[in-house]
Amino acid sequence: MSAKIIDGKAFAAKVRAQVAAHVARLRAETGLTPGLAVVLVGEDPASQVYVKNKGIQTREVGMNSYEHKLPAETSEADLLALIARLNADPAVHGILVQLPLPGHLDSDLVINAIDPAKDVDGFHISNVGLLGTGQKAMVPCTPLGCLMMLRDHHGSLAGLTAVVVGRSNIVGKPMAQLLLGDSCTVTIAHSRTRDLAEVCRRADILVAAVGRPEMIPGDWVKPGATVIDVGINRIERDGKGKLVGDVHFESAAAVAGAITPVPGGVGPMTIACLLANTLTACCRAQGLAEPEGLTA
Ligand code: NAP
Repeated sequence: MSAKIIDGKAFAAKVRAQVAAHVARLRAETGLTPGLAVVLVGEDPASQVYVKNKGIQTREVGMNSYEHKLPAETSEADLLALIARLNADPAVHGILVQLPLPGHLDSDLVINAIDPAKDVDGFHISNVGLLGTGQKAMVPCTPLGCLMMLRDHHGSLAGLTAVVVGRSNIVGKPMAQLLLGDSCTVTIAHSRTRDLAEVCRRADILVAAVGRPEMIPGDWVKPGATVIDVGINRIERDGKGKLVGDVHFESAAAVAGAITPVPGGVGPMTIACLLANTLTACCRAQGLAEPEGLTA
């Protein structure tokens, strides 16, 4: 193996420590404590784990965590009423509605009901537009975490050729916007892309956000490229459950210059960036200086 392993777990710990230090300073200087409200509708087991972890990590960095667990049959009107209350609550600086929502609820309608200034997931249409036009936005957490690791590894990304495989609204598209914002030459690939292998081989930065276990082999990777593997896929191997990415790690690590592992790469950065976004939202709401290095 020749690639440097980009340690997302260690990086996320560093980001959380930065957030915690800033939160402590904020409280000492202004008496203010940032607050994050997380709304969970229903009992999806994976979502329950995510929400629990978000609550723990929010409290660990010294912020207030407000958890709202609603039954699966909650009506749209009741959910929108809760969001309106959170929008108006000055103790709440960030609001996250855990997705996916139960089928009878319209996710777009619900997300777009969040005050864009408190939309710490960065999914509100206003934040999507702000990011797309290069203005100050709340940036989706997973791509923000990828950008932080890329900036840390490369310094400047200007002029690098980036290929993002996947065009979802939560990862692929915002990732491409962020890379463009840092002056990469960006290609977005997807399931209809012709000769995907050839497209990937052009990339100095290859971001995989597909959701297909080990789909990208080492011979699709340009020698020396940086590979960011967003995929989280649970597979069975040798009778045991295992988490793998969208990239075939062993073969890709043999040619890449740097690579994120799964687990321990992009995953831990997502909650760290959620905390960073909540702090940023709090500082913006108060007209205070934003923390350095924690936003796009
Ligand atoms: P998604 O909404 O399902 O989007 C997947 C994208 O991959 C789509 O744009 C799809 O293309 C493309 N795709 C599917 N098959 C392909 C193929 N054979 N060749 C090329 N492109 C293909 O998924 P997502 O929400 O972006 O998530 C992607 C992965 O990241 C998943 O494994 C997810 O678990 C993981 N994830 C991780 C984190 C984290 O914190 N680390 C956060 C979010 C997601 P079309 O648009 O043409 O269908």
